[in-house]
Amino acid sequence: MDDALLSPDHLAWREVVRDFVAREISREYVRVCDEAREYPYEAYDKVVRAGWLGTLVPEAFGGADFDLLAYLLMLWELGRFGVDFGTVFAIPAFCVMNIVRHGTPEQQDRYLRAFVEGRVRFSISITEPEAGSDVAAVSTQATLDGEEYVLNGNKLYASAAHAKDNVICMLVRTGPAGGRHQGLSLILVPNDVPGLSMNRLPTVARRATGTNQIYLQDVRVPVANVIGSAGDGWQLIQEHLELERISVATLYAANAQQAVADAAAFAKERVQFGKPISSFQVIKHTLAQMQTDVDAATALVQRAATRMAAGVPSAKEVSMAKLFASETLYKVAGEGMQILGGAAQLPEMDMERYWREGRQATMGAGSSQIHRSIIAREMGL
Ligand SMILES: Cc1cc2nc3c(=O)[nH]c(=O)nc-3n(C[C@H](O)[C@H](O)[C@H](O)COP(=O)(O)OP(=O)(O)OC[C@H]3O[C@@H](n4cnc5c(N)ncnc54)[C@H](O)[C@@H]3O)c2cc1C
Repeated sequence: MDDALLSPDHLAWREVVRDFVAREISREYVRVCDEAREYPYEAYDKVVRAGWLGTLVPEAFGGADFDLLAYLLMLWELGRFGVDFGTVFAIPAFCVMNIVRHGTPEQQDRYLRAFVEGRVRFSISITEPEAGSDVAAVSTQATLDGEEYVLNGNKLYASAAHAKDNVICMLVRTGPAGGRHQGLSLILVPNDVPGLSMNRLPTVARRATGTNQIYLQDVRVPVANVIGSAGDGWQLIQEHLELERISVATLYAANAQQAVADAAAFAKERVQFGKPISSFQVIKHTLAQMQTDVDAATALVQRAATRMAAGVPSAKEVSMAKLFASETLYKVAGEGMQILGGAAQLPEMDMERYWREGRQATMGAGSSQIHRSIIAREMGL
């Protein structure tokens, strides 16, 4: 983020997290988790012990109660060496806010402190085989039976849903089938309830966080697990998505900045035709354009975050930030691969991972096309 626009407190906080990542995590660990497709429990526990998981959670529940920008600066540093690694922390951190904002007192007592202390984590499951961009097509049915809902259906691409002690914030249909925006509800579903099974998907990106298909067969969940009221799902998911999108946009910009730094460092070192390749004007201009794109993405992220923090309606600005930051990551990581030449193919250079993450970034949390449609709608088109 632009240092000139950050307060001394924010700058100091960012240094603390940056130092923590260098000391306690390291880019090598991020790489290994991707290669092994392993959820980074060790790093997660370290962030819990640092007391940072509940950055946005109120102090009354053991959280840090920091502002939005402080939370995003933390994500920036955690996601610098890979979006996927950053989502390990971002997903639970933005999902828990559904309970902070709309949970019942009983849900808040049960989950918030447990979350901050690392005893429970959260994920989000909206997408289904027949409901991708068209979120209102969700058809997983929750049928009322006494004090319980009985869930039947399939969910797709549920990131981190398999992680231990995970409670899934699941968008289901508690109203009549085909009700579109009406009759949707957000309900808390622990990942170990009888009748729920899942299989991990061998995706190109998001290998450490992991992404799953979920099968629900007569899964029983207490009515008390509904967040807000039954039927509020559409409204809640819009609010959820705004925080999710600014969170991932921050990760994309952070990772894109690292891609530029890595490419520039390589270009200064790599000698061909008797000089560093960074001395060739074509390479210089490519790097200059990459940095300009990243700065533009960062400025959009910072603008959207500032508006959100001020409580100003920000749907257009958040979509612009998400759209541009995701496409920038894909673009600059691709340029970075060109600058690295053959070395770009090697996992130890990290660039191929950034590029894979960029490929996913333009689809997850709403595709580029969907964000262009939101921006056009907000323009009155
Ligand atoms: C690795 C990964 C992790 C994910 N994690 C999660 C998660 O944790 N939780 C969750 O709920 N979901 C998750 N998703 C799902 C993600 O949000 C969806 O993939 C995304 O919303 C697009 O849905 P879809 O894949 O079904 O594509 P589709 O909706 O089928 O779209 C296919 C293509 O058609 C285009 N398209 C569709 N409708 C329109 C339209 N109206 N106008 C123009 N173009 C259109 C799309 O832009 C896209 O290019 C994840 C996805 C991936 C790949």
